[in-house]
Amino acid sequence: MESGLLAPVIPATPGPAAELDRLGDEIAELSAHLDAATAHLLDLIREFDARGGWNSGFRSCAAWLSWRVGLDPGAARERVRVARALGTLPRLAQALARGELSYAKVRALTRVATPETEERLLGVGRAGTAEHVERIVRGWRRVDAKAEARETARRHTSRALHVYQDEDGMVVLRGRLAPEVGALLVQALAAAREALYQQRRASDVSAETSLGGVSAETPPLAQQQADALALVAETALHRGIDPGAPGERYQVVVHVDAPALADPEAPGQSVLEDGTRVSAETSRRLGCDASRVVMRHAPDGQVVEVGARTRTVPPALRRALQHRDRGCRFPGCGLPFGQGHHLRHWAHGGPTTLSNLALLCRRHHRAVHEEGYQVDRQPDGELRFRRPDGRLLPAVPPAAAIPADPVQALRARHEAQGLSIHPRTAMPGWLAEPLDVGYAIDVLHPLAAG
Ligand SMILES: [Zn+2]
Ligand SMILES: [Zn+2]
Repeated sequence: MESGLLAPVIPATPGPAAELDRLGDEIAELSAHLDAATAHLLDLIREFDARGGWNSGFRSCAAWLSWRVGLDPGAARERVRVARALGTLPRLAQALARGELSYAKVRALTRVATPETEERLLGVGRAGTAEHVERIVRGWRRVDAKAEARETARRHTSRALHVYQDEDGMVVLRGRLAPEVGALLVQALAAAREALYQQRRASDVSAETSLGGVSAETPPLAQQQADALALVAETALHRGIDPGAPGERYQVVVHVDAPALADPEAPGQSVLEDGTRVSAETSRRLGCDASRVVMRHAPDGQVVEVGARTRTVPPALRRALQHRDRGCRFPGCGLPFGQGHHLRHWAHGGPTTLSNLALLCRRHHRAVHEEGYQVDRQPDGELRFRRPDGRLLPAVPPAAAIPADPVQALRARHEAQGLSIHPRTAMPGWLAEPLDVGYAIDVLHPLAAG
């Protein structure tokens, strides 16, 4: 048509316009190849994530990816999220794998797609530009958020606790609690049950004598729960209804004998306040950065001296440590807050000085105390981490080996897979008509009509 009319004036040698067209085609084609390769990459990440390959000292698959590949943490989290989502969205996954849908579009669509809506959203991805897709996804999420808010509100208004008396005088409870309140109740009941029945087991011997040889057996769970609720109520009335500050509600106090702290093999006491035994290594971790009261015992166990309560890492030193380390020093972590870890523990005579301290987040503090990871400081001041098997864990892993011509290798692999990718593979079907997002959502979203 038009090009036919113009044909006579086009010069025989390719002009700059034709060259630029070719360049544009090459950009489009290579981009489609990269998207297809990204699909393969996401498959690998999904498998690595599901099989826990990252669980070698890293907090998450995203943290591992950020460390190993050098992605910024946000992009790494996004990759893992999209990889997981595509596991249940085969149509979107295939469109990406064929280079027909860009990663940007797939990333946006996976924020809202479900197996039920996938087909329709794939249509949106095929027809629209990346900007259209983004706008439709935003509108879609507003509808989702409204539906979710309605559901949360419905659940919240359905909370109830009915207390009434049965014919025989027993009191009957029936209720519906919000999930987090329910969890709190279950936790309180468990704690009360533990307190009641541990005491009972301990006093079983005396019970046997007082009940004339009849042992007080532990009743069935339902009866234990009833007793536990009574204790929870008694405690609430006795102490006054005051939940206290969050830090006071959940705190761990460790009692430990000095020899047990200094030597894991040494016998000695290492128990939490509620009587749960913890390993000496765990008490060393809790003691690394804590309030400390040193009690000296005579050989017969009597306390002969109680020192003043001090912080193991004084506030000024902690500020200096935070300033120097900025965040957790474990490779690939970088969480901006943490605990002061003594490279050589104070119980072993290690000094509380900047050079003997390293900031580690809670997760990684546990890794070096209880999971066999090792950390020491090199003469040049750098920290060196090792895995439990002794292998080095570098802060920045060596770059992967790639073929001399990676683009050609990528093309060859897609060709071998029978993929035909060309400059128009990822072209949207959009014909420049204006986009009416509201209309599009009304037509596409299953809940929009409501
Ligand atoms: Zn420590
Ligand atoms: Zn960490």
